[in-house]
Amino acid sequence: MPAALALKPLSPPKRRLMGPGPSDVSPRVLQAMATPLVGHLDPAFLQIMDEIRAMLRAVMKTANELTFALSATGSAGMEACVVNLIEPGDEIVIGVNGVFGTRMCDVAERAGARVHRVEAPWGEIITPEAIAGALNHCRPKAVAVVHAETSTGVRTPLEEIGGLARQAGALFLVDAVTSLAGIDLRVDEWGIDALYSGTQKCLSCPPGLSPVTFSVRAVEAMSRRRSKCQSWYLDSALLRSYWGQERAYHHTAPITMNYALHEALRIVLEEGLDARFARHRRVHERLRDALEAMGFSFLVAPEHRLPQLNAVRVPEGIDEAAARRRLLEEFGIEIGGGLGALRGKIWRIGLMGESATGEHVDSLLDALRRVL
Ligand SMILES: *Cc1c(COP(=O)(O)O)cnc(C)c1O
Repeated sequence: MPAALALKPLSPPKRRLMGPGPSDVSPRVLQAMATPLVGHLDPAFLQIMDEIRAMLRAVMKTANELTFALSATGSAGMEACVVNLIEPGDEIVIGVNGVFGTRMCDVAERAGARVHRVEAPWGEIITPEAIAGALNHCRPKAVAVVHAETSTGVRTPLEEIGGLARQAGALFLVDAVTSLAGIDLRVDEWGIDALYSGTQKCLSCPPGLSPVTFSVRAVEAMSRRRSKCQSWYLDSALLRSYWGQERAYHHTAPITMNYALHEALRIVLEEGLDARFARHRRVHERLRDALEAMGFSFLVAPEHRLPQLNAVRVPEGIDEAAARRRLLEEFGIEIGGGLGALRGKIWRIGLMGESATGEHVDSLLDALRRVL
């Protein structure tokens, strides 16, 4: 053995995760991850998969049969929705008001789509009027927006956009990575046809799975494809026979991650969605009031703010990266910096799931006062 290999035991520092994700994880979820493995085709695991699907439907407010947890992170959920719905040459309208709308355009272009971008300044919403304007000029297969834009802290209202997509005969695709289990989200009522999320934001589970759901309309559109889905791993027809009745081997599901998601979903539903949304709002207000009293201002207009992702302007004359480093090293608190054009200009303070508590807020405020 080379002398340089010390084989030190793993000992990560203890942090409060208050950035754009991952969020803090309940000890119950960590405990679930430490339980024994079973095989991925064991009847006991198939039962767990069924329970996950049922709980996901409840959290997403959908009756969609094709609802499951993709074995990869949120970005793979994005890719799965795009490559299953879009064939080369198809048109898609994508709302772009931050990093994740931009990423979706990249994914769609790689899938051969003709992308129509509907842009809004970072920090603002995608309006129904802007989407309607784009729909006057094209006949897209899908209209896509990011519900909760984690790079800016903006919540784009979905209902009207869903109605416009439906009128235009287009499928409605939604990024709900940061919104699911943090703010209200109604897949069926809002006419959403394809939706992906992630485990490490408001579900408070480690990163690694992407809950997805597809409506009957989306499934029909996929069955009318002229070409095979370009991705074998993300092909919903193959995944469907693994997660559905046939249980045909497709890939080896990450057993432990599914244990974690099972427990995280139980925690969400035990708390109740309405109580959970109210908690996120309350804790956000506590942070907002204190930060405003300290002289901070928010990037986003009050009516469009996400409670779970607070984008605040960094005061003039402060080295924001140095301040974040001190928060992490001296106080064990992680917050996020700005991305893209907002780099160096904002902090992103996440209050997601287990990280949405008064204690988190108070310890951050205390640390911030000392660091500044
Ligand atoms: C985090 C995030 C993603 C990407 O998820 P990963 O798990 O990092 O792959 C996509 N969209 C939004 C809105 C996100 O916040």
